[in-house]
Amino acid sequence: MKIGNSEAAPPYPFYRCAGPNCGQLKNASDRWWLMWTSIAEFKQPVLYLSSWDDDLAQLEGTLHVCGELCAQKLQSQFMGNIRESQLRRIAEGS
Ligand SMILES: [Zn+2]
Repeated sequence: MKIGNSEAAPPYPFYRCAGPNCGQLKNASDRWWLMWTSIAEFKQPVLYLSSWDDDLAQLEGTLHVCGELCAQKLQSQFMGNIRESQLRRIAEGS
């Protein structure tokens, strides 16, 4: 007889922090953050930050963030990417 069932799906979806060099796994009780980018609303890249919400967390493109430090790193990446693409556009002369 087998005790326990390792094949059973976890009781909640499995989330890993999107922060650079983090990779922490979320426990059900952790109060994490969500970040995502969208260009739809204001016609340029906007970074969104929200407190954890199970429905939002499951949307495609949502980043799961364990804490302030990782949120700051992701924000810095986002800003860097924008700067880079602006500089590229200037360099290409368009
Ligand atoms: Zn993290």
